[in-house]
Amino acid sequence: MSPTPVDESKASNFIRERVAEDNRTGRFGGQVITRFPPEPNGYLHIGHAKSICLNFGLARDFGGRCHLRFDDTNPTKEEQEYVDAIMADVRWLGFDWGEHLHHASDYFEQLYAWAVQLIESGKAYVDDSPPEQMRELRGTLTEPGRESPSRRRSIAENLDLFARMRAGEFLDGSRTLRAKIDMAAPNINLRDPVMYRIRKTSHQRTGDAWCIYPMYDWAHGESDSLEGITHSICTLEYEDHRPLYDWYLDALGIYHPQQIEFARLNLSHTVMSKRKLLQLVQEGVVSGWDDPRMPTIAGLRRRGYTPEAIRDFCDRIGVAKADNMVELALLEHCVREDLNRRALRRMAVLRPLKLVVENWPAGHVEEVEAVNNPEDPSAGTRRVPFSRELWIEQDDFREDPPKKYFRLSLGAEVRLRYAYIVRCTDFKKDPATGEVVEVRGTYDPATRGGEAIGRKIRGTIHWVSAAHAAPAEVRLYDTLFVKPKPDDEDAWKTLLNPSSLETVRGWAEPSLASAAPGSRYQFERLGYFSTDPRDSRAGAPVFNRTVGLRDTWAKIERAETG
Ligand code: ATP
Ligand code: MG
Repeated sequence: MSPTPVDESKASNFIRERVAEDNRTGRFGGQVITRFPPEPNGYLHIGHAKSICLNFGLARDFGGRCHLRFDDTNPTKEEQEYVDAIMADVRWLGFDWGEHLHHASDYFEQLYAWAVQLIESGKAYVDDSPPEQMRELRGTLTEPGRESPSRRRSIAENLDLFARMRAGEFLDGSRTLRAKIDMAAPNINLRDPVMYRIRKTSHQRTGDAWCIYPMYDWAHGESDSLEGITHSICTLEYEDHRPLYDWYLDALGIYHPQQIEFARLNLSHTVMSKRKLLQLVQEGVVSGWDDPRMPTIAGLRRRGYTPEAIRDFCDRIGVAKADNMVELALLEHCVREDLNRRALRRMAVLRPLKLVVENWPAGHVEEVEAVNNPEDPSAGTRRVPFSRELWIEQDDFREDPPKKYFRLSLGAEVRLRYAYIVRCTDFKKDPATGEVVEVRGTYDPATRGGEAIGRKIRGTIHWVSAAHAAPAEVRLYDTLFVKPKPDDEDAWKTLLNPSSLETVRGWAEPSLASAAPGSRYQFERLGYFSTDPRDSRAGAPVFNRTVGLRDTWAKIERAETG
């Protein structure tokens, strides 16, 4: 099969260029086989999405394939729940690994045999050093390490001890298998790295078959090799591990993929380490991994983000070799752009104030026609009931209107979206609290559809008919952290935003009463909202605010590019 040329519509980056170069020189026979290798110890987040889009995107654009491989080498932290969630999230993002679902644990037997091969060639040994001693002998960045007394063991003794490690004869942590490389190497990763540790823990796939488990560096390159991966793409912190990746493959003399590192995604106003995200879940700071405030794919999905918007975001941030931080505003910009094209417009009132139209006959109902999506004429129109008592936003009435306030105040006129122009004639206050509890007005029958016959009307407000409206719970989200870089601080948990969630009870137009789970809307003037897939019920819809209408990205971009 001849390689497909690069899709020129995709912005190029240094990885694409290297892959294209390898194709030109025929280094891997024109093949492009990548993999996404998550450890099932948590849910995927937006940073993983960058890696997924990169790996699956390269495979797609070069006519190759991308494997999903679970890096399940640490049974103490891994769970089936995470495995299932990861597969669901990759699929939801729009990618397919076909028949290539793999697990590092599929290769435990082969990895063991290769470890024996390294022992036999004098390149690995069983070390009896307890963990503290091993740490001490390891040296530092400025001092070389020192050799463990076990390093001089005979091959026969190593083979015997390694077999007995596997057989479960020794306690957890009492022995390790180490590669025999160079205790004085300037790169600490090459100072006789551990290949196996003893851990008498059941594994979610292999059960109790094993009590020794391979370390990441040992399992990873060898798994890549077994699967015929051509380009093994990982984040920058593995750059220092590449010499070890190469050493293992060369020592075994097996097929050798190319490791390439890129800068991980850091996003503002959130944390991305799985350890920290797990803490937020375990400590109940959020309601779970899919809490809509989480940067997880499951959280973003529940919040109403679309896979298209996330993929667009990953395209726009590009792939580079230097760490940087991406503004949350860019992600939100992508979501807004996508939803603007697709989301149906609806009216809902989040902080309701009653408006009584005094000259509208009680009990009379008229249906006005409303546009479903001005960006998409094929979305058509719908009919919305209008009656004497309406809900409007508290914000849309002021007793003492400031200058340039074009909404309702005593004597002022405003357009009720799709309906009529009303003039405010009176309002009522709660004598105890001073709060405005009702606004009264009259409508002009000649202005049906909102036409401003003979006058200039600057304000248009949304409304719902009180008798017809569906009660709606609406969850308003703000960033999870108050500072842009919480990850940089030890006291990151003190930077949690105490008002990251506000729940309000409002009213929505009747068609929203039975909105399907996961449907997305633009509530006019308020933002984009979607029904909560867990809690929303027919007749009692629950909405998550996906993203507000105000786009701050253009401003940030201007400031950055000067
Ligand atoms: P841990 O924090 O547990 O080490 P991890 O975030 O590295 O986890 P993995 O499950 O090992 O998670 O990641 C799977 C793949 O996703 C890896 O190839 C990793 O390089 C990539 N990845 C993880 N975080 C990011 C990120 N923020 N940006 C880009 N890629 C990422
Ligand atoms: Mg990792």
